Amino acid sequence: MLSATDTIRSLGGLARGTHLRSLGFTRQALAGMVRRGEIERVRHGVFAAGPLDEQVRAATAHGGALTCASVLRSAGIWVLPADDGPHVWLGPDNHALPHPGCTCRSHYYRGRPPLGSATIETALLHLRRCCGDEAFFAAYESAWRLKKLSAAARARIRKALPRSARWLVELASGRRQRPRIASPPAAPCPGHPPPVPSEDRRRREGRLRPRRPPDPRGGRRREPRIADAQAYRPHP
Ligand SMILES: [Zn+2]
Ligand SMILES: [Zn+2]
Repeated sequence: MLSATDTIRSLGGLARGTHLRSLGFTRQALAGMVRRGEIERVRHGVFAAGPLDEQVRAATAHGGALTCASVLRSAGIWVLPADDGPHVWLGPDNHALPHPGCTCRSHYYRGRPPLGSATIETALLHLRRCCGDEAFFAAYESAWRLKKLSAAARARIRKALPRSARWLVELASGRRQRPRIASPPAAPCPGHPPPVPSEDRRRREGRLRPRRPPDPRGGRRREPRIADAQAYRPHP
């Protein structure tokens, strides 16, 4: 039989007491291991062992699961709002529990929070409710670009969104599938200036004024610079 420490680690670092008791660990044995510092009681009925992410520990102590911006940010997904403490999914009926150093943001969203962290799918849906459409769209695109959203996951997210918000995933889908008309400028390469469109092409595109006759005073005609071209915005 595995020790309680190894058992909890094999379960991902967190375990409910009910689960541990079903595996043969009695209440008294678990209490003794907590006293000896072999395992940690993060909240009533939930035990931890081994290294545990600080935000996951805080969310668990708060009474729920890490979600929203906190889950997305820890997965490397770009999140617009600033980091403002653990976002915690409590479910609609739970209460936040007091714990030392609490800076949590409680989310009383529907569903039953898992132990530890919400999935990226759920965290994205929570982010839209918490931080709005713009934050959701940016994070959704980032997650997709990082290959953290399968086609099935994207379909589930679309279905879970209210109808009035589905345009957000449809817009992201259109942007991913349609080649962009104008590529972003290439990164400057040392010793190789970025290519500049030919004069004829710039004139055709209306980014260059018509050629003027030479200055009769003999002055040198000033060649348009790239900055000038950028000042010519395309006609709407
Ligand atoms: Zn808290
Ligand atoms: Zn949030």
